[in-house]
Amino acid sequence: MARKYEGRAVGIDLGTTYSCVAVWQEQHCRVEIIHNDQGNRTTPSFVAFNQNQRLIGDAAKNQAAANPENTVFDAKRLIGRKFSDPIVQDDILLWPFKVIAGVDDRPMIMVKYKGQEKQLYAEEVSSMVLTKMREIAESYLESNVKNAVVTVPAYFNDSQRKATIDAGAIAGLNVMRVMNEPTAAAVAYGLDKRTNFDGERNIFVFDLGGGTFDVSLLTIKGNVFNVKATAGNTHLGGEDFDNRMVNYFIQEFNRKNKVDINGNPRALRRLRSACERAKRSLSFLVVATIEVDSLFQGIDFSSSINRAKFEEMNMDLFDECMKIVESCVMDAKMDKSKIDDVVLVGGSSRIPKVQQLLQDFFNGKELCKSINPDEAVAYGAAVQAAMLSEDIKNVPNLEPQNNSQLVLHNVPQLVLQDVTPLSLGISALGDIMSVVIPKNTCIPVNKTTSCVTSQDNQTIALIKVYEGERTRASDNNLLGSFILSGIPPAPRGSPFSVVCFDINENGILTVSAKNNASGTSNKITITNHKERLSSEEIKKLIQEAENYHIEDKKFLRKANALNALDEYIYKMRNALKKEDIDTMLSSEEIEKIRSTIVVTTYLVDKNNHVVEIDDLEDLLKELKTSMEHIIAKTI
Ligand code: ADP
Ligand code: MG
Repeated sequence: MARKYEGRAVGIDLGTTYSCVAVWQEQHCRVEIIHNDQGNRTTPSFVAFNQNQRLIGDAAKNQAAANPENTVFDAKRLIGRKFSDPIVQDDILLWPFKVIAGVDDRPMIMVKYKGQEKQLYAEEVSSMVLTKMREIAESYLESNVKNAVVTVPAYFNDSQRKATIDAGAIAGLNVMRVMNEPTAAAVAYGLDKRTNFDGERNIFVFDLGGGTFDVSLLTIKGNVFNVKATAGNTHLGGEDFDNRMVNYFIQEFNRKNKVDINGNPRALRRLRSACERAKRSLSFLVVATIEVDSLFQGIDFSSSINRAKFEEMNMDLFDECMKIVESCVMDAKMDKSKIDDVVLVGGSSRIPKVQQLLQDFFNGKELCKSINPDEAVAYGAAVQAAMLSEDIKNVPNLEPQNNSQLVLHNVPQLVLQDVTPLSLGISALGDIMSVVIPKNTCIPVNKTTSCVTSQDNQTIALIKVYEGERTRASDNNLLGSFILSGIPPAPRGSPFSVVCFDINENGILTVSAKNNASGTSNKITITNHKERLSSEEIKKLIQEAENYHIEDKKFLRKANALNALDEYIYKMRNALKKEDIDTMLSSEEIEKIRSTIVVTTYLVDKNNHVVEIDDLEDLLKELKTSMEHIIAKTI
């Protein structure tokens, strides 16, 4: 296979609520999930702005309730969509940050940064999360990371996939491939490497995450992944389970203390964090305790919850999940006994009751759960990234172990193929959908169809490209259109062009048409301008991302200098507190310390705005040369 990508390549699961980055480690022959700077293996997909700086990941999530209007999350729900999309309209109602309609009906997220209004594309917010993930990988690998495989839900359409690639570009990443999340999870388990007697495996992927629930039924034959059916609920996940627990404890607190904490955002935020922690531990323990000091009006809150209670309060939601599982299997017209593997994905699939219900549904089948479910997608993406780059050189001959180990016998086989999720075609006479590439065709693919004129002496033709399964073209989703001119006059029904549909490995479609007689041609890469950023805009955003980076660095430098000065003041104060200071230092020296403390404290307190970084660093140097020897005498 061609190895066209230089350097290390990572796999990134860009999640709605949490993201994860992984890398193939050639020397250890395994995938490594990379910890972030907080030591966490997943990073919240959150970006926040305040008076001084931009925060990404844990730092952004931790301050969310204190700064709700400027803390952006769920960008994945907006990416590649129009503002007027009903899904966007519904989501906006739930968000504390503001979203408005921008040029071409593109949603724009409004935040206040350093006292100024700022409008952000969803791609930009996602690019910030991707930048964070790239930096996490870079600091672990101690090298630059340029290439990545980024995962997307199986149901993402063309526009959403392209917007994800754009987000990568803004983050300075070359997105080698966008990969379907369930496909990545199946690869993580090496399921593509195992075959049953007829060489085909049916895999059910159950992904219950933070705010979304997606199930997919995949078939693998050879190296081809075919998404047979998907189903889900875009608002069902871990946050709903947290909410149930929060409401339960609000009632308990109100009952015990005769006060209502509803309406106090700080108290609710602290309770919510405690509930999420308790929920996580209930996946391993049968009882979890909740303790929040001074939750409301100085009252401490301490309570506990057992697993049975947690299950009871969420049972209707769990049942809802199972209904969706059933409908997906039915949509695929497959008997559930034909499913070879059931793969658990998403942090919330750790909940034992959920696992039990799922196992029961599949008649007691063992579930694939030996890889952490919130890491499985990044894991598979890392394998694919390594395959596409030069990272896997000496292919190890691993055999599957305990049902989970990745098998890498054969490099070329791991080059995965995805399929078109919807049929693609053009509108033919009478608004008929003329399918050129049927649904579930393996990509990359190239197909042609021939077009005939609809009127006598027609010299131009409008070619409209649609995706969807409806017979009437206009009932499907219009991806774009273009005009072919210069058609020589001829009677109606004369063929005038061959139209060619080409889909590359990333699922991006280019449609071209040519009239052979006149030589005129035209084409369109389905860029759907209304939903997609132009290359100019992307360039601008890359520049802005660079600016953010410089600002972030500056901020860090300033914060470090301020901290060091603070530390120095502390050292000087401590020196003066020494009982026998008079015997250690002369009175001039003592005076010098005193006045230095005053000046330094003044500058540090003035903080951030007035004092330049260089001045702070100079002061620090100056303190070290002029004060160090005096302080040393007091130790
Ligand atoms: P995303 O939906 O963004 O892809 P994840 O798959 O990482 O995100 O899922 C995040 C959700 O998983 C959060 O709601 C988190 O509370 C939940 N979660 C993580 N660990 C556990 C656990 N041990 N038990 C129950 N839920 C968990
Ligand atoms: Mg996910």
